[in-house]
Amino acid sequence: MHQSSLLLAVLAAFSPSLHAATDAPVQLDLLLRGGTIYTGDAQTPVVGDVGIMGDRIVFAGKAAPAQFSARRTIDATGMVVAPGFIDAHTHADVDLHSKDPKKRLNIPFVTQGVTTSVIGNDGFGGFDIAAQAQRLRAAPIGTNVAMYVGFGPVRIDQLGEANQAPTPAQLEVMKHHVSQAMCEGALGLSTGLFYPPQNYSKTEEVIELAKVAARHGGIYDSHIRDESMYNIGLKGSIDEVIRIGHEAKLPVHVAHIKALGVDRQSLER
Ligand SMILES: [Zn+2]
Repeated sequence: MHQSSLLLAVLAAFSPSLHAATDAPVQLDLLLRGGTIYTGDAQTPVVGDVGIMGDRIVFAGKAAPAQFSARRTIDATGMVVAPGFIDAHTHADVDLHSKDPKKRLNIPFVTQGVTTSVIGNDGFGGFDIAAQAQRLRAAPIGTNVAMYVGFGPVRIDQLGEANQAPTPAQLEVMKHHVSQAMCEGALGLSTGLFYPPQNYSKTEEVIELAKVAARHGGIYDSHIRDESMYNIGLKGSIDEVIRIGHEAKLPVHVAHIKALGVDRQSLER
């Protein structure tokens, strides 16, 4: 569910009891006062208050002065209050899987308003999605997380670091890994075609795996094959992502889009 929808759903669920309250102020755990509230919808933000009970938002809007009392009140005047951000491309994997509880809190992300980190980007994420989820549950982390199954481990499992194409049998095993990972909750397939050994793959190989992700409702996310003039060029790399999306029939996300090097513009015209 979209976070703002969640907010509204939560409000709807709680509103009747709040409205039924007598004149006594409703006791909240946390009240954010006077912030500029963005719900995540395309609505004009309002200056108001956000009330929280436990881990639920129970009010968002202009509260009457005596409507609430709270164990803790934060003056948010002049600040934005918004649903947590989703960072679609991180390399927080190492910290989130760290033995160090402080690193697992993912403080650099939380302090920038990020409450969901996507990991497994650039084709580096393992295909053991269920096992990763189990570890993350057992050793709690500071943000929510969503995982990609990475092309790298899938390919390395069958081909190691070899610069060659998979046999049909190897490709079948790779497809099985992607399918299994999607069933275990992966967001989609990520690749880092910029990096060896992933860059040894032909587009057709990636399309076959992306089709599997597509069948499970996944998306395709790629650190594109080139950002400069090392092989197929920046434009060729974007074209490749679009082709993969068309042929595998799934949405794509271009990561690391940049024009690297001073020759880029003239060469790509
Ligand atoms: Zn990256």
